[in-house]
Amino acid sequence: MSGLSETLSLVYAVGVSKMNFEKTILVTGGAGFLGSHLCEYLLNKGNQVICLDNLFTGSKSNIQHLRENPNFRFLNHDIIEPLYLDDIMIDQIYNLACPASPVQYQINPVRTIKANTIGVINMLGIAKRHRARILQASTSEVYGDPLVHPQTEDYKGNVSTTGPRACYDEGKRVAETLFFDYNRQNKVDIRVIRIFNTYGPRMAKDDGRVVSNFINQALNNEDITMYGDGKQTRSFCYVEDLIEGIYRLMNKEDFTGPINIGNPNEITLLDLAERIIRLTNSKSKIVYKPLPKDDPKQRQPNILYAKQALGWEPLVDLETGLKKTIDYFESVSKK
Ligand code: UDP
Repeated sequence: MSGLSETLSLVYAVGVSKMNFEKTILVTGGAGFLGSHLCEYLLNKGNQVICLDNLFTGSKSNIQHLRENPNFRFLNHDIIEPLYLDDIMIDQIYNLACPASPVQYQINPVRTIKANTIGVINMLGIAKRHRARILQASTSEVYGDPLVHPQTEDYKGNVSTTGPRACYDEGKRVAETLFFDYNRQNKVDIRVIRIFNTYGPRMAKDDGRVVSNFINQALNNEDITMYGDGKQTRSFCYVEDLIEGIYRLMNKEDFTGPINIGNPNEITLLDLAERIIRLTNSKSKIVYKPLPKDDPKQRQPNILYAKQALGWEPLVDLETGLKKTIDYFESVSKK
């Protein structure tokens, strides 16, 4: 189906089913790891959800279970291309569209920058025309390889403009700038969340991120690929906690952010690998590989602001979340 006719059929479908929902919400990147959980959460709250995704890293299997729901629509579209949804009223937009794993966002770095500039301008344009509230999924990567620890929202970051991660880090930084400029210039109602490392079911097995790599290697008794000495740290947040934080931010009145959402439980990657080996009863051994350029040495969110402003804090501990994620990867490998 062509983009235009797909858009028209979407508009028609949305038009006829109106009435039985709270809000009409556009989720870009809705077939991705976080996006699919968010779509599900919003549908369960009685909203109509338009899930937009170009399926570069997202997957139809992530949203298969939602397609029976009459309040759910899928639109195969890239936010880099113009989008007109002018026959319906969009109330809220969650802009999650962008590959988020370093391996994936570096495949086509220029396209990653386009998603965060042209794509973001397109989505802000929809928000402006529809007078919709729009939330940007920003990232802890705006802090780069941080010199302040843990990271607070007022830290301005230590980011390379020229390195291999810059397409994402600088892209996400300019996306934040665009959000605040549309807010000042056009009175667009914005929310900006900075997402720290998140994991859980529906991560793509091959997306290259550490939790999915380690779990799949451990389940197959393959070598665990440790980049560097494994002493670098990350703080991992379970997906359910993250979705609750995003939702609370979107629905908080008179509040733009930016705000950190993540789990402050900081661990080394060696610790992560050992836990995963233990939880999977794996025979895997850790092997050491070169550390990718500009790989941040430490990362931990300060979430005081989220606690105070949103009454939010993560509830799922790492052990519980890892077990659920391991169960998920075991179940998909049997399919
Ligand atoms: N990493 C690793 N082995 C892997 C994948 C990643 O040691 O197979 C490391 C990576 O170098 C980084 C950390 O794990 O230090 C987290 O990487 P990820 O790609 O998940 O996200 P990042 O936090 O770097 O954006």
